[in-house]
Amino acid sequence: MTLAQKIAQHKDRLGSRLCILAHHYQSDAVVRHADILGDSLELARRIDGLGAEHIVFCGVHFMAETAAILARPEQKVHIPDINASCVMAEMAPAPLVEKAIAALNRDGRRIIPLTYVNSSAAVKAACGSNGGSVCTSANAATMLRWALGEGDGVLFLPDANLGMNTARQLGLKNTEIKRLDVRGAGSLVTPASPGQRLFLWPGLCAIHAKFHADQIDALRSVHPGALVLVHPECAPEVVDAADGSGSTSYLIKAVGEAPAGSTIFVGTEWNLINRLKTRHPDKDVRPLRKALCSNMAKITEANLSRMLEGLETATPVRVEEHIARPARLALERMLTACK
Ligand code: SF4
Repeated sequence: MTLAQKIAQHKDRLGSRLCILAHHYQSDAVVRHADILGDSLELARRIDGLGAEHIVFCGVHFMAETAAILARPEQKVHIPDINASCVMAEMAPAPLVEKAIAALNRDGRRIIPLTYVNSSAAVKAACGSNGGSVCTSANAATMLRWALGEGDGVLFLPDANLGMNTARQLGLKNTEIKRLDVRGAGSLVTPASPGQRLFLWPGLCAIHAKFHADQIDALRSVHPGALVLVHPECAPEVVDAADGSGSTSYLIKAVGEAPAGSTIFVGTEWNLINRLKTRHPDKDVRPLRKALCSNMAKITEANLSRMLEGLETATPVRVEEHIARPARLALERMLTACK
């Protein structure tokens, strides 16, 4: 029996007690078993309405944690490989984030922490406890505008590129933005200078950091009519060189709406681009370069099948209530602000 057949058998056995969620960066082999496929925002929104007792999350650990925070107490959230982490999320350890928040607020100003959903539950909790919230790449502009209105400034973390690209979209000047130096266990973080109101955590996505503006310049000389679309986790100069930039849902929509016969270069995770290529045979969809997230790739048909086989006795992803409560508050502020 193939792995796909085994998974189908487990799905039949568990019926409505099981729901499999998958992120767009998962491989086709995994995605074909998903009940719901989406980006971080879409998947977070769907948790609320799920009746299943077991939610199996095919993505990276912070996504399963987010699902566990939003799920009802009787629901169990599982991830087929607990070691599927996100490099960017790991660049912002919660104790260091808490230290930075305290340092930025030391002079009596109220700095609102706004974390990208690619962060640990403990970081989301630190944001929730300090009047802050969460954003995804699909709603970063709405949430940054919200956070700027809530206090004297915003700490945006962990992705400096998404923070900078969103700030530029909202028209903030470079003089209003400071990139934090979090070396020395946060001892170098000091209160803001006059005029500064956005503080960027120096994190990044190792996958989207692989794209460079000169790659775009070079391909334009060979494919002068090509459309170039990139994710806002790319550096600002890459976003500037592209024709369009936006979240995973934006990229899917933009490729879908491009005229038949278009050549489209996409700067994001390779699995998604590969799927878009298959879905649109009338267009020439290509990666800016092949960039695979090795952590997303840790979820396979083999460990999904094993997980489903032992689901009744598997240890679910748990977030302790003292962290889950403020993290939930931060997430709910986002879901309310972006209704
Ligand atoms: S693609 Fe980047 S941001 Fe997304 S999970 Fe992988 S390392 Fe994290």
